[in-house]
Amino acid sequence: MDVTVIGGGIAGLALAHQLAPDHQVTVLEASPGPRGGGYMIDFFGPGFLAAERMGIIDELRVRGHVFEGVRYGTPDGAESGRIDVGPLVAAAGGRYFSILRPEVERGLLAVLPDYVDLRYGARVVAVRHIALEGGGSPRGALVELADGATLAADLVVACDGLRSPVRERVAPGHGDIVPMGYRVASYLYPDPQLAGELAERMLMTDTVGRVGWAYAAGDGRVGAMFAERTAGSGLARPVPDRARLQRDFAGLHPQVDRALAQAPESFYHDLVAQAIAPRWSRGRIVLAGDAAHAPSLLAGQGTSLAIAGAEALACSLRAAGPHVEVGLAEYERRWRPTTEAAQRMGRRSASLFAPANRLQLRIQQVARRAVTLPGASLFAARSVLAP
Ligand SMILES: Cc1cc2nc3c(=O)[nH]c(=O)nc-3n(C[C@H](O)[C@H](O)[C@H](O)COP(=O)(O)OP(=O)(O)OC[C@H]3O[C@@H](n4cnc5c(N)ncnc54)[C@H](O)[C@@H]3O)c2cc1C
Repeated sequence: MDVTVIGGGIAGLALAHQLAPDHQVTVLEASPGPRGGGYMIDFFGPGFLAAERMGIIDELRVRGHVFEGVRYGTPDGAESGRIDVGPLVAAAGGRYFSILRPEVERGLLAVLPDYVDLRYGARVVAVRHIALEGGGSPRGALVELADGATLAADLVVACDGLRSPVRERVAPGHGDIVPMGYRVASYLYPDPQLAGELAERMLMTDTVGRVGWAYAAGDGRVGAMFAERTAGSGLARPVPDRARLQRDFAGLHPQVDRALAQAPESFYHDLVAQAIAPRWSRGRIVLAGDAAHAPSLLAGQGTSLAIAGAEALACSLRAAGPHVEVGLAEYERRWRPTTEAAQRMGRRSASLFAPANRLQLRIQQVARRAVTLPGASLFAARSVLAP
């Protein structure tokens, strides 16, 4: 069958890889080429296992890195604690690494069969079902591109991320994102000296209300990330504003200040949010990845779920053969419980992400010391790996 995939991000490319042997796949990606920039993600859990089954794990692993752990720092530059990643890696049986998001995309592109029709600069502006004469279930859907072109397919899969407008069409009333009370900014920039100082430990600030991260991102680059609490600031995507970022996050830690001074004009900036939809498909239009079930960065599993969900969709369609609707229902039945567990974990960790006051900060510092006790770190690692 003809399958049109909207979005050539993580879910879209993973899905195209899985569907390509059986179907004619077209991927429509709005950006003019693979998206650069980005942030470091932790790759483990269902996505890791799916990547093994898909035979692409080595392509991803060579692009990843295992840090020694996290170092916590206070505004005066002192170290206030450490967490080692070793127990997490051990609990995962070695199935864990960190990787820049654009490297996941590059890894997926490297294994994408060349007969997949991947079109960059192709922004989809509308999706609708192809009506059958005399009614009945739709047998296909049509996408309309910003340049006015249209494309018909037997199945359209929306892999267009957290803010997917297709979600409203599939699950009316659920098109909006569900904010988790934070906004986040992140960027990469070249700074070999700071990258050398940060070395094998990510730096996270031990601060109230606002948190900054800095880490060595490979090739002499530094990755910086900033998160702050928000209160009812609407659902719109915040406009990146370097001067405001530098003002709001100054003074968290000397090394983070240095990264802040180098902030580029344009950077990733969005609300931390989940996508929740009571149904993932309608007729021949289906959601996958963040568009269906974004867990937010608080769960630290969005990429993993995007890959594993794409594999689950492809497997269900393969098993259902010509009964596409049966395949779509089976995808949701099999895959939804895992995504809901990850979303619950994201919601549970929301209050801890950036301590709201000094008391919460103190409680976190004490809890962190407990986690560094032998055995406790393994317990903590297991609870992250099996939400
Ligand atoms: C700061 C931060 C840290 C994170 N950390 C982690 C982590 O540690 N671990 C983890 O697993 N996940 C993490 N995530 C989440 C992860 O990045 C996402 O969950 C994952 O990228 C989802 O993949 P996706 O393909 O569904 O969506 P996306 O990666 O957002 O891809 C969607 C694609 O659709 C394209 N698109 C959108 N609209 C259109 C249109 N109209 N027409 C054509 N194309 C369109 C976009 O250009 C994009 O390429 C983090 C996210 C953030 C923001």
